[in-house]
Amino acid sequence: MQWTCPIRTGAQTRPEALALTFANRRWTYRELDAEVGRWVAALQSRGVRPGDRVALLATNHAAVAQLFFALGRVGAVLAPLNARLTRAELQPLSDDVTPRLTLALTGLVERLPGAEPLETFTDTVNTSVPDCAPLEAHSPRVILFTSGTTGRPKGAVLTEGNFRASARASEANLGSHPAPHWLGTLPLFHVGGLGMLTRTAYDGGCLVLRERFEAEDTNRAIDEEGVTHASFVATTLERVLEARKDRPVPSAFRCALIGGGPVPAPLLARARAAGILALQTYGLTEACAQVTTESPDEADGRTAGRPLPGLRVRIVGPGGEPLEPGREGDIEVHGPTVMAGYLNRPEATSEAFRDGWLRTKDVGMLDERGRLTVLSRRTDLIVRGGENIYPAELEAVLVAHPAVQEAAVVGVPDERWGEVPVAFVATRDGAPLPEELGAWCRESLAGFKVPARFLGIEALPRNAMGKIERTVLRERARGA
Ligand code: ATP
Repeated sequence: MQWTCPIRTGAQTRPEALALTFANRRWTYRELDAEVGRWVAALQSRGVRPGDRVALLATNHAAVAQLFFALGRVGAVLAPLNARLTRAELQPLSDDVTPRLTLALTGLVERLPGAEPLETFTDTVNTSVPDCAPLEAHSPRVILFTSGTTGRPKGAVLTEGNFRASARASEANLGSHPAPHWLGTLPLFHVGGLGMLTRTAYDGGCLVLRERFEAEDTNRAIDEEGVTHASFVATTLERVLEARKDRPVPSAFRCALIGGGPVPAPLLARARAAGILALQTYGLTEACAQVTTESPDEADGRTAGRPLPGLRVRIVGPGGEPLEPGREGDIEVHGPTVMAGYLNRPEATSEAFRDGWLRTKDVGMLDERGRLTVLSRRTDLIVRGGENIYPAELEAVLVAHPAVQEAAVVGVPDERWGEVPVAFVATRDGAPLPEELGAWCRESLAGFKVPARFLGIEALPRNAMGKIERTVLRERARGA
């Protein structure tokens, strides 16, 4: 299967429609098509050929979007590296990629040896290449490193077919829109950000790209820039709601996808009460973002919804046997959005699949209606005397306490029970740890789930993607 670059399609079918906005600049499809052509000229003049890889270190910037589409036209592969990583962390990733060319935003070039400035890369080019080679479904398009919460980061190889299928499936679930305007605050070096970029382009919409997330700016974009869709994680949604107060949400705003980690149902209920239709989604890098998402017609925030059209999810037991609805087990995914494999890691690739199904390393269950509940990462699960305890459930109870800012629960070895939960709690404004946290938990949780200890912490340790570093907490809990 082959497709035309969606920016070219847009330039032919709706040339004057807005395709991209960033930092007070706007590009219509016609303008963006010409700009992408200049990028193609610049890349070709530097010897970038089909199959070559280009490493990139950048926070969100219009040039990243232009480079992404230009590489598609050249048949080359983008490897966007996490802009929050240190020089020492980046080096092995770059070695893994073996790039033909390395680009970085001016402020970041020092961190990646051999990097050339991204913003000025096309400055010397005065032509725009009109040719637009077709995009092949099976051609690698992007190498995206997983954040490494479960070991050394692995480069997931995602194809044009993966992105295309993901965009189509998402649209089938959310419903089509004549001109979606997706707010791009997620980083473009993450599958969530690239998902927004490709989805809006394939839908002939506009990416309202921001350098970073900022709550008041997000609300301004929703109120003044015709934003129809947005994606948040639980903590950013919380900040948007706090900053929004009682301002009504414009009717143009359709929905927000919330995922990337556990999503407390009360938070989604608060968002909906404030006029933001917030839909829980479950996804991962290896499946090109969304796997399941609540459908707008029946969203209640209690599950992560059904598999997107064309995708399948199954729950399996320890021996790989499929389990019936209501039983907890490992989540596996099948469908056209699932990655080709990991770069240079044949063993990790074969371990990641079982009979063509992607093993997600997450634990969950399906209900009778086929909706998925995500319970925990397999490695974060706490087993106390044979009973499963899911950190996310305890954390949701803890953050509901008015004095608690954030909380994380990890398992530590215990002679009697095998393992017990220990809670790390950061209080609002650094207030002392409330004494009644045990009693607070006992009000809504079975006794065996109540943490054995509560430890105060200033702020939770988070990795470059903002995810809680549970290995660090486990070590701290052991030593405490
Ligand atoms: P690594 O694979 O290196 O450990 P990672 O876990 O950060 O890194 P990502 O692909 O960035 O990898 O994130 C996907 C993970 O986020 C999922 O596997 C799951 O654990 C978690 N997640 C995503 N959506 C949800 C959700 N709705 N509820 C609970 N967890 C979720």
